[in-house]
Amino acid sequence: MPELPEVETVKAALVPVMTGAKVRYAEIRRPDLRFPLPTNLKSFLEGGTITSVKRRAKIILIRAANHVMMLHLGMSGSVRISDHKPNSQPHDHVEIAVEKQGQSHWIVLNDPRRFGYIDLVHERDFNNHKSIAALGPEPVSIADDPEPDNVLDIAYLNKALEGAKAPIKSFLLDQRQIAGLGNIYVCEALHRAGISPKRKAYSVKGKRAARLLPAIQDVLHEAIGQGGTSLRDHKQPDGKLGYFVQSLKVYGREGEPCLACDTPIISIKQSGRASFYCSICQR
Ligand SMILES: [Zn+2]
Repeated sequence: MPELPEVETVKAALVPVMTGAKVRYAEIRRPDLRFPLPTNLKSFLEGGTITSVKRRAKIILIRAANHVMMLHLGMSGSVRISDHKPNSQPHDHVEIAVEKQGQSHWIVLNDPRRFGYIDLVHERDFNNHKSIAALGPEPVSIADDPEPDNVLDIAYLNKALEGAKAPIKSFLLDQRQIAGLGNIYVCEALHRAGISPKRKAYSVKGKRAARLLPAIQDVLHEAIGQGGTSLRDHKQPDGKLGYFVQSLKVYGREGEPCLACDTPIISIKQSGRASFYCSICQR
């Protein structure tokens, strides 16, 4: 599943080809993904000029004409960008052709499992949209996007942890607490911070909380730098795989030795998701 670093990689690839570009045409090849596609999506896109491409949590935000097109890649969504009209592949659901300074690009959304979605909302309603309104702060600051005042810091983290009875693993996956963290990077951040995924969130304080914040931010920055993690479905928009999979220390390594202490990595289920951790290094 694309997580924040993968979505950030897609967004960063879209910025130079879409920002300031005019949409020549849009082909919408089915009426729905996870939800029905907006009926005015084609007319919104065609002839419009894209003013910005940003990201909030795992949602790509494409703005034009006082509207925000919200693109979520779901479980298996990916984006291809090419400088010629691409050959159609199975599960290519949306194709957008854009032109900027005489240069054309094609952007294709592919999503075999169709858990992704596209929504279109007026700018004035954006902050109240159900996918946006309840989101916590962004875990990392990336090149002015999002706004710097909406990024996780130690004061916010300490306050949010106070009184939170859920295990720290579930707390970190809760998008209302921190936006955009997913299973892979939470497992990795907890390992780096030496915190057991089973520990109650409220008991993560002092030195532990002080280790947790940079662990989250470092793991995300490193993954973004390597184009994300490619497990099953996700490729970067240029077709290359993300390389962070080679840097995973616990995720997917059940039974393999901990790289720090040789103890076999354990896998348990928490809220239906697999948690991977070392019972010696993480307390
Ligand atoms: Zn260990």
